[in-house]
Amino acid sequence: MRYSQDIIEEVRSGNDIVDLIGGYVSLRNRGGNFFGLCPFHNEKSPSFSVSSDKQMYYCFGCGAGGNVISFIMQIENYDFIDSLKFLADRINYILPQPQQNEAAKQQLRKREVLREIHKVAARFYYDTLQEDKSEAKSARKYLDDRQIQLRKAFALGLSPSNWDSLTKNLQKHGFSLSDMVESGLVRNNAAGGYYDRFRGRLMFPILDVDKHVVAFGGRIMGDGEPKYLNSPETPLFDKSRQLYGIHAARKARHKELIIVEGYMDVLSLHQAGFSQAVGVLGTALTTHHTRLIKRINSDTVILLFDRDRAGVQALLRAIPILLEAGIKVKCLQVSEDTKDPDEYLQKYGAAHFRVLLDSAKNHAAFRIELLTKEFDLKNTEQRIIFTQEAAKVLSSIDNAIEADAYIRDTAVLTGIAPQAIRAEMDKHRGARFSQEAAPRELPSLRQSLRGRQNDRGLLEARKGMLSVLFAYPSVNQQLKEFLSPDEIGGGIPAKLLELAYLGEEKNVADIISQFESLEEQQQTAELLKDQPNFENTAAMEKAVNEMWRTIKKSYFIERMSEETDLNVINTLGSALRNLEKQYISLNNGVK
Ligand SMILES: [Zn+2]
Repeated sequence: MRYSQDIIEEVRSGNDIVDLIGGYVSLRNRGGNFFGLCPFHNEKSPSFSVSSDKQMYYCFGCGAGGNVISFIMQIENYDFIDSLKFLADRINYILPQPQQNEAAKQQLRKREVLREIHKVAARFYYDTLQEDKSEAKSARKYLDDRQIQLRKAFALGLSPSNWDSLTKNLQKHGFSLSDMVESGLVRNNAAGGYYDRFRGRLMFPILDVDKHVVAFGGRIMGDGEPKYLNSPETPLFDKSRQLYGIHAARKARHKELIIVEGYMDVLSLHQAGFSQAVGVLGTALTTHHTRLIKRINSDTVILLFDRDRAGVQALLRAIPILLEAGIKVKCLQVSEDTKDPDEYLQKYGAAHFRVLLDSAKNHAAFRIELLTKEFDLKNTEQRIIFTQEAAKVLSSIDNAIEADAYIRDTAVLTGIAPQAIRAEMDKHRGARFSQEAAPRELPSLRQSLRGRQNDRGLLEARKGMLSVLFAYPSVNQQLKEFLSPDEIGGGIPAKLLELAYLGEEKNVADIISQFESLEEQQQTAELLKDQPNFENTAAMEKAVNEMWRTIKKSYFIERMSEETDLNVINTLGSALRNLEKQYISLNNGVK
């Protein structure tokens, strides 16, 4: 922080959130909270809420949230300091000269080092692939067989199969072991040894939009598991924010982007001249991806996922995320005799692919086509269910002319009158508000929970626990010995737990401005937006114990799955079994 927390709190509290946001969004008072149309995503019914009590906002539709500082950062596209200056100006508050921000400088230096490590590693893997050794020869043969020539443009490489070639090479370049471990490319074991994460793999460097290598994917040469291995999340790499091939797609300047699932799909497509192809990195499409897509000025996406069930599911989940960001969506599948775009291109070549590409369907038409396969339209009952499902899909089309065309198609298909389909669609449009109002988690929040079993119950337990701690500071001291920041999941939840344990009474809006990035502010708002409400101490105690057990259980299980030392695994196992016997009693009562 370049300004002290006191100054930040003064500026923040001097700007009333309802007053400030009211200048941008028309807000209606509904039972003490204010609602309006979210300025950060397209919507027709209000799911954007502003709380005067908590001095925070939260959108149930897209997860945008924070305090006045976050709002100005988000709507004016300012950084933390500029947002603070804006708000200080607004209330005629004179900010003092900012302090030097040592922490921020250090963070920058750290990223610089990690980038440098990735650059050296990419070079090392690239050189290894060119060597006159049998490993390299068979890797090159693999690429030859798949006709991949873009080895330089994508900086393809090979990791040697012995344990520490890269580690030694990085050491020669003068990098410290701790930086290497932080880069995710080198791992350390309990005995104090260091070894390469990627061994005996064909290496795909993952370049960000500005062409920096930020991570690697590696495909095993020969047999072994897993077939594909990615870098872990690091300060440089968050897979929910990267698309493989984005650096090359950006250069191609296409308005239409093709999104596929695998490294080889991206390579084959670029190779065949379709440089607008990018790949998701083993993760669902997120709102961060949509921002990246918009950043390279693409306004349409063609989703071309694998034909298997998982591929179709991923595709269906991606549609609303893209639509919500105002991106047009088309869908496409390769022919039934091929499993993915790579195989399709091997079999049929680029000319056929171009024809296939032109046949991409509007997302609604695609979904309706999927539905027709699920139902027997000769059967009256099934035809009715089909029409109801189709109406749901059609109600998501914003363009009236487009919608009309599909309504007519559906009417012809089912023999049900267009008016009846329209009436059914109206029902879903009306129902959209209640759907939007159902709390949804920020995708980024799930990702930030460090890959630990991210099931909903665990996320709810973390949220619930933190809300209790901030709403009832008296509970903090009792819980301190039972739950550590590391156990709650690292990242933002851990930082919040530390803050809670400090025991200073703070309101949510002030906690939010402990974080400088909008991302962290949003996650904090998401974690702390709910006010816990218990009838009495006994009810709270019961809830706290359940949440605590869920969190600890997942922590132990995760630790056990990472640990290689049998003694440690046994200790963790007995700690896990002991959980059931433990009970935290809260005697200070609900205030
Ligand atoms: Zn929103």
